[in-house]
Amino acid sequence: MNCREIRVLSHAYADRELDLVRLTEFEQHLSGCRSCSRELENIRVLSSALKASTFYFRAPANLRNRIRQSTCARNGVARLNPRSDELQASWKQWMRWLMPVAASLVVVLLAVFVTFNQAADNRLTEEVVSSHIRSRMAEHLTDVASSDQHTVKPWFAGKVDFAPPVTDLKEHGFPLQGGRLDYLQNRAVAAEVYKRNNHVINLFVWPASGNRSTTKKLSLAKGYNVISWENSGMNYCAVSELNPVELREFADLLK
Ligand SMILES: [Zn+2]
Repeated sequence: MNCREIRVLSHAYADRELDLVRLTEFEQHLSGCRSCSRELENIRVLSSALKASTFYFRAPANLRNRIRQSTCARNGVARLNPRSDELQASWKQWMRWLMPVAASLVVVLLAVFVTFNQAADNRLTEEVVSSHIRSRMAEHLTDVASSDQHTVKPWFAGKVDFAPPVTDLKEHGFPLQGGRLDYLQNRAVAAEVYKRNNHVINLFVWPASGNRSTTKKLSLAKGYNVISWENSGMNYCAVSELNPVELREFADLLK
């Protein structure tokens, strides 16, 4: 090693960063070169002067807090406690595992809900159709036979615990025939009877659990058309052998 190489490596030597081969060569040169030894001594003096405690100042508490707050704000998380980083990492791991499980659970619950609702709808349709058929077979279509809504509506008072709306639709081609007490879904319901030409329409009315308005659902069972909907706190279910277009027209008139 010559003096130029020694000057380049002297800081690394002072910081004990040289490997064994270079260290040996370096020290061999130093033992025979006064100039390089002096240079190295200067570096050591400067280094130890810089490390002296007089050059270090403790930051005031408010400065430390301000720096912490500004880094936290930039990262969007609280990092005052190193444990918060660990907690965040484990929380992320949990979420990575939990999210697909939660998503699958939602899908399963939705499927159960839809199936359950579909089964309930099917049960209601079957009950309504059976009731309609029974009313025709037993010649027990009406308990009160009247085309006057002001006769039929008060007749239900005292027989059911609600006031079913009764509408006269004679001028629309659906004359009222009367009313009957019936049972659906384990409760007494109002059965209003209408006609379209020779076709009988049974309209079942009973209170709904909420006060919403739903779209009309059309279904078919045993050759009969059934339209059901909810409006202003009442369930409506119309059933007839009448074609679906005219049955829907009838249902739309009831609004
Ligand atoms: Zn030298």
